Amino acid sequence: MLSQRERDHFGSALDAVRSKVELFKDDVQQKEFELSTPKEIYEHLDRFVVGQERAKKILSTIAHNHYKRLLIWRESGFKKRLDKTNCILIGPTGSGKTFMVKQLADYLKVPCFIADANSLTAAGYVGKDAESIVEGLIDASDGNYDAAASGIIFIDEFDKIAKRKTSGTKGKDVGGESVQQALLKIIEGNVMEFERSTGMTKVKFSIDTSNILVIVGGAFVGLEDIIEKRKKITRSTPIGFTQKDAVEVPDRSEILQYVKNEDLEDFGFIPEILGRLPLMAVLKELTVSDLVNILSKVEGNLVSQYTDLFEFSKTELVFDDEAIEEMAKVAQTMGTGARSLKTIMENVLLEPMFNLEHAHITANDIEKIQPQLGNDSKVKATEST
Ligand code: ADP
Repeated sequence: MLSQRERDHFGSALDAVRSKVELFKDDVQQKEFELSTPKEIYEHLDRFVVGQERAKKILSTIAHNHYKRLLIWRESGFKKRLDKTNCILIGPTGSGKTFMVKQLADYLKVPCFIADANSLTAAGYVGKDAESIVEGLIDASDGNYDAAASGIIFIDEFDKIAKRKTSGTKGKDVGGESVQQALLKIIEGNVMEFERSTGMTKVKFSIDTSNILVIVGGAFVGLEDIIEKRKKITRSTPIGFTQKDAVEVPDRSEILQYVKNEDLEDFGFIPEILGRLPLMAVLKELTVSDLVNILSKVEGNLVSQYTDLFEFSKTELVFDDEAIEEMAKVAQTMGTGARSLKTIMENVLLEPMFNLEHAHITANDIEKIQPQLGNDSKVKATEST
């Protein structure tokens, strides 16, 4: 069903390709769009996102350039159109990829849609097609098509649509290459046709995706091996390298920083799509001290969020420093980055939250909940920062 806003919109331009540049999520907001500098955007991200300096820098710069291009286009009377630059975020689960994009869209006040590449299949097959992503962005803009057409799309789990190396099955490839081909329409910028139902009738319209900033992200498990193979790195002994190797060979945890387009091609991506994603930002695995920051220091940190919950019920919540440190260590052993912090927090605070009572959390309390977290008895986390 179309919203009132959509009906108003279609009243004037039913099937026109939108060639406006509307840089507001909500057109009630009458302020002119102010283009923030890359540094201003970076500073905003830095208030919420711990670590990942280079990724924050890349994101701030591409976002600034993207909206600068749109302003140039608008100011030239829609004549001068510069090519857009999209980007890939590569990093382990829970390292802040999605969070960073959301913070970026919030700051710029543009609509944002997070899509999961796992659910995509080529047109004609069961599952979602590329068009559904743009429709998601339209929904996120509350039916404001012009705002949607200059919004941000983040395609998560992008590594899952890599071409499969084995071709043993008879069925057609409903994922992989055909989905990449379909996504090209959004990533490179194209006029896409849509249809929406107004109850009895259907309305057709088009959106030009050239002004949508597309960011893709994923963990790209196995990419390290491809890079090491290209660089002819062999890790001869499991405990480390010889003195000579140690000087020349980058540490395994650093290896993703050396990623090149050809590695992603080897991983299973078609060159056409890689050509449209020229910027790669690598996010690092969060250290224990990063996790401590996320828990208790950064703006909107988890401890302050739970403290607010307790205060609302006139109860007090206190954490020992050792408890915070222990939570960060346990989270690191769980392998899902900052995501595990919330699980740990919910488990350790379950009883006091249920009973609406005061809580003073010690390191011992964190150890006691390890079995609930799926850790075998006492897995004393000893990772160093
Ligand atoms: P992914 O890298 O898998 O996309 P998310 O960005 O969804 O991970 O992270 C999950 C949650 O963990 C976020 O909503 C955020 O609260 C927290 N988080 C992850 N990384 C960071 C970070 N670098 N700084 C601050 N919070 C983070």
